Amino acid sequence: MKNEYDVVVVGAGPSGSVAARYAAQKGASVLMLEKDRDIGLPVRCGEACSQRSIEPFINTNEKWISARVNKYSFVAPNGKCAVVPFKETVLILDRKVFDYELAKLAAKEGVEIFTKTYVKGLLFDNNKVAGVTFEAKGKTFKIKSKIVIGADGVESRVGRWAGLRTYVNYKDMGSCVQVVATNINIESDTCIFYLGTNYAEGGYVWVFPKGHDIANIGVGITGETNKKKNALSFLKEFFREYFPDGKILSSVAGGSPTVPTLKKISAPGIMLVGDAARQVNPLSGGGIGTGMLGGSIAGKLSSIAIERNNLDLILKYDKEWYKVAGKRHIIFDKIKNEIYKFDDEKYNQMEKTINKIPENKRTLARLFSSALINHPGMVKDVVKVFVKK
Ligand SMILES: Cc1cc2nc3c(=O)[nH]c(=O)nc-3n(C[C@H](O)[C@H](O)[C@H](O)COP(=O)(O)OP(=O)(O)OC[C@H]3O[C@@H](n4cnc5c(N)ncnc54)[C@H](O)[C@@H]3O)c2cc1C
Repeated sequence: MKNEYDVVVVGAGPSGSVAARYAAQKGASVLMLEKDRDIGLPVRCGEACSQRSIEPFINTNEKWISARVNKYSFVAPNGKCAVVPFKETVLILDRKVFDYELAKLAAKEGVEIFTKTYVKGLLFDNNKVAGVTFEAKGKTFKIKSKIVIGADGVESRVGRWAGLRTYVNYKDMGSCVQVVATNINIESDTCIFYLGTNYAEGGYVWVFPKGHDIANIGVGITGETNKKKNALSFLKEFFREYFPDGKILSSVAGGSPTVPTLKKISAPGIMLVGDAARQVNPLSGGGIGTGMLGGSIAGKLSSIAIERNNLDLILKYDKEWYKVAGKRHIIFDKIKNEIYKFDDEKYNQMEKTINKIPENKRTLARLFSSALINHPGMVKDVVKVFVKK
């Protein structure tokens, strides 16, 4: 490891690996530091994402695809379900392999990668971020850099150290618990969502197939609900009732920042990407594709800034993100806030309404607009984000 790099990326999740790879593309020296011993583990993710959202950044490869799904099934509190087919392909990834592949692509571009390196602070020069301090093998090291990219996930501290406001209200921090389990008898082409207080108040239960007989099953609820009854209790009850023969292979808990992106995601010498920047889609909680998108913008800006020797160029990042996705995320957040006010009766009505539409005409846009029919302004918003892509 050298003492100085053009760019240091903190965190080797999907956002960090994509940011590092793009940053290195025009010859900048890039270092990526990961605190865990193994990239991609533990997997804190339902692993679902649309193929469209990730294909700009990685060629599709069967080795990291566990399943392909082509419909959602929404189960209402009364137990009845509404199936919504979709035109695009949704993939259930094998995140461990997927994250490895993204890191390998970064390495191919010349990025140096170190695991078991815990970044514990930033260096400053004239109020500008100028590198990191990190711990490895019990020793503390300093590395100078022109740019630091904080890709350190939902628990990010890099942003806070840089003076960016990263705080998320407790109520907006999705509290999630998930298991991967076998002996799960579900259709392998359908993602199932259970909505209502009996399954997961203030959130939902997901059951995503990962192949024959195996699924990723989880609960995500708001921080507010979590105070009354935690996500693990909901998951245990659900699992016992719906999959009594299921055998759990792994389990993990994590947070999801279901809010619009932070107001400021760059400052002199620093950019935040992925969960660290709160680039998750606030409605779905999905952050794989959006984090990679954020990482690609930050990485490209870094490489241009280094090439032109004009570090102020990275300050364009906020505007670029807002144009490409940030604006849509504000709308998704508004939709989420309305949906989360629904009671069980409203979810039951939604199921009835959607089941009256012929299956081949059902879309997510129709699902959400029928649910929000009493909020005419919001129906326009639904069209903006689900139809005019
Ligand atoms: C239970 C759950 C289910 C989810 N399901 C889905 C889903 O189905 N689909 C979807 O699209 N999204 C899902 N998400 C969200 C998705 O997992 C994240 O949005 C995505 O992983 C964000 O990628 P990232 O690279 O920003 O952060 P991460 O993947 O969290 O990577 C951050 C990395 O930074 C490292 N790091 C942190 N601090 C330091 C430090 N100080 N020094 C060095 N390294 C550090 C971490 O070890 C980690 O490897 C889910 C989230 C949860 C919690």
